[in-house]
Amino acid sequence: LYLLAFESSCDETSVAVIKDGTEILSNIIATQIASHQRFGGVVPEVASRHHIEQITKCTTEALSQAGIGYDDLAGVAVTYGPGLVGSLLIGVTAAKAIAWAHQLPLIPVNHMAGHIYAARYVAAFQYPMMALLVSGGHTELVYMPREHEYQIIGETRDDAVGEAYDKIGRVLGINYPAGKTVDEWAHQGHDTFNFPRAMVKEANLDFSFSGLKSAFINTVHNADQRGEQLNQYDLAASFQAAVVDILAEKTMKALAQYPVKQLVLAGGVAANSGVRARLQADLARLHPQTELLLAPLKLCGDNAAMIGAAGYVNYLHGDRAGWDLNAVPGLSFDRITPLS
Ligand code: ATP
Ligand code: MG
Ligand code: FE
Repeated sequence: LYLLAFESSCDETSVAVIKDGTEILSNIIATQIASHQRFGGVVPEVASRHHIEQITKCTTEALSQAGIGYDDLAGVAVTYGPGLVGSLLIGVTAAKAIAWAHQLPLIPVNHMAGHIYAARYVAAFQYPMMALLVSGGHTELVYMPREHEYQIIGETRDDAVGEAYDKIGRVLGINYPAGKTVDEWAHQGHDTFNFPRAMVKEANLDFSFSGLKSAFINTVHNADQRGEQLNQYDLAASFQAAVVDILAEKTMKALAQYPVKQLVLAGGVAANSGVRARLQADLARLHPQTELLLAPLKLCGDNAAMIGAAGYVNYLHGDRAGWDLNAVPGLSFDRITPLS
């Protein structure tokens, strides 16, 4: 069973062909990073224009690389939120046009569910499971009691982790998106600044990163005023050590309240080597019965293969969108009141 999948929520145009929800036949990704870099972040109007220019090429390439035609498809899956409205609309419109023209079911997919399903290419999912979702716009602990059910049990009260990485990276003079380089620099330095770890001692499962970000920026700014040059590798190492502590402590707290068979690390920041290593170590020590699923690095960032995997599950559960499907920029899983 072949699905054609579309992803255009932010600054990657991606189209994939997926077999049986578990095999990637093609996963074409056109990134626009170079066009946004000089603005220090994604410019929505520029992003929409790029998606329009790329989406047809990506679709043709995805089908030809997979070696199939429209007649072989069982459905079309598409990200309809969360994300930038103008960007989402390009994928949604393309998916609708193809589904309508070929009389195929249109399958709506939540982008964040997609991030979780990047790990589906590593192993079959076993429930109950939990995901630590860390990306450019989200930082959430998601509990999945069964397939196709997502509950937010903890989330950031201010910045997302990826956003914090990008902002402190900018202060270090690193181009957008800065996460990968900050991660590399962190390995060349030491945690000498001891930045704050907000909310880790609180009983709730929420996060906060704005205080950490401000502490970082103030430290650099104050040193600048004194005419002092701080070690950039130690700054990166200290920031990453704080992030890793916060994410790991809250995740272990969540696992103590919600025992699960598997923990998935998902989203763009799931590529972070410090977070990957720490979760692996903490899980082995504190929850050895829980299996850690780490998506391959190339599937951590935005791509349509992950949307196809999540779309397949939606397809099996009967999720179908009408021709009036619209982009939902603020689409979210439901938040439940955590156990105490
Ligand atoms: P969302 O998924 O919340 O809608 P998004 O799609 O823009 O947001 P992703 O593409 O999932 O976000 O992730 C991009 C983010 O991941 C960027 O903020 C980037 O800096 C960060 N990132 C990528 N690699 C690393 C890394 N190795 N360490 C830390 N952060 C990283
Ligand atoms: Mg992106
Ligand atoms: Fe994303």
